[in-house]
Amino acid sequence: MPKTVKNALLRGRKTVEEVIHQGLDTVEDVVQVGRTKVEGVIHQGFDTVEDVLQHGRGKVESVLKIRRETMRAAVLHGREDVRIENVPVPEAGPGEIIVRVGAALTCGTDLKVFRRGYHARMIVPPALFGHELAGTVVQAGEGVEDFAPGNRVVALNSAPCGECYFCKRGQENLCDDLLFNNGAYAEFIRIPARIVAKNTLHVPDHVPLEHAALTEPLACAVHGFEDSRPRPGDTVAVIGGGPLGLMILHVASLMGCETIAIVKHDGQVEAARQLGASHVVQTTSIREAIKETRALTEKNRGVDIAIEAVGVPDAWEEAVELVRKGGTVNFFGGCAVGTHVTLDTNRIHYSDITLRATFHHTPAICRKALDLIAGGRFLAPLFITGHAHLYELNRVFEKLMKRSSEIKTAIVP
Ligand SMILES: [Zn+2]
Ligand SMILES: [Zn+2]
Repeated sequence: MPKTVKNALLRGRKTVEEVIHQGLDTVEDVVQVGRTKVEGVIHQGFDTVEDVLQHGRGKVESVLKIRRETMRAAVLHGREDVRIENVPVPEAGPGEIIVRVGAALTCGTDLKVFRRGYHARMIVPPALFGHELAGTVVQAGEGVEDFAPGNRVVALNSAPCGECYFCKRGQENLCDDLLFNNGAYAEFIRIPARIVAKNTLHVPDHVPLEHAALTEPLACAVHGFEDSRPRPGDTVAVIGGGPLGLMILHVASLMGCETIAIVKHDGQVEAARQLGASHVVQTTSIREAIKETRALTEKNRGVDIAIEAVGVPDAWEEAVELVRKGGTVNFFGGCAVGTHVTLDTNRIHYSDITLRATFHHTPAICRKALDLIAGGRFLAPLFITGHAHLYELNRVFEKLMKRSSEIKTAIVP
């Protein structure tokens, strides 16, 4: 082939390739721009849909509330005397919110209050009753900026003053003026301004309200665990298979500790296993519990941390016998007023044992607890073993007094 023809062909091919290349680049650019635009539109669409949903939810909630003048609520009158009554739907004052209760959970403290008819610090009858709840905001009072009708929230049962000696030292659980709120066993509940400002949290969309309602007891459990100053790999024994004992056990196992559950009832054995207990000691004898627990540690040394979650003097004394030299005991369970215990001072002194007694929670720990629930590793469904309507509250408490396999019942108004 003559050289010029060959050259012409080559040149032609090159030009064609360049044109194709440029064309491809342009096409790709166009596609890219188009894609970005489409994505933008989709995004805007999503935002709009969510706004509309939020707006709609808010409207529906407002309407639901405005149309109502009275609601059903549990009123505590005295010992084992809770009545479901018609009471006025609360109105939000400045800084307050009204929440439609999605789920309220039964709790050992409520059971104690039901039995005794009062709680010196938390509730004096006649009074609205119940303190673990999550729900939907239906009304926001003047000045409330963080919450609007339609928001799903968990409102804690207390809030510290932020100004006293204890609050300033970061020990808000010991606040001289801790404000408590009750009234979760009802269709609606008023959340006082201080709790709205300091201890009400937004519930992420993927978290069911009844799981979010576990924030309060879980905060107590996390507080008790952290206050025991655990180190990675520590062996932690928890005495008691009630709701809080099981929660502390679960938290300790999620944090990577080796855990020993000391429980009495069959149902608690299964629950402890499911919640991650490395070992379960089932016995009603304190002597046996101490022997078996120590046998699970190297050379019967004893555990690094023993957490008492029953609230009886025998269990307090047992806890001290479970720990190794230099170990930590946490008297987490509150005993009845006037209870005294006998402790071996020799053992405590010469074995250098740290004694702690964690009470309640702080706003920071409540946030941690909700994060733990939302994070997905915490097995929230295992803690809710039953559902009941508000009308069945008396029956639920009677059952809780007798049976031990129930952990928590979600009361749905
Ligand atoms: Zn509680
Ligand atoms: Zn305070």
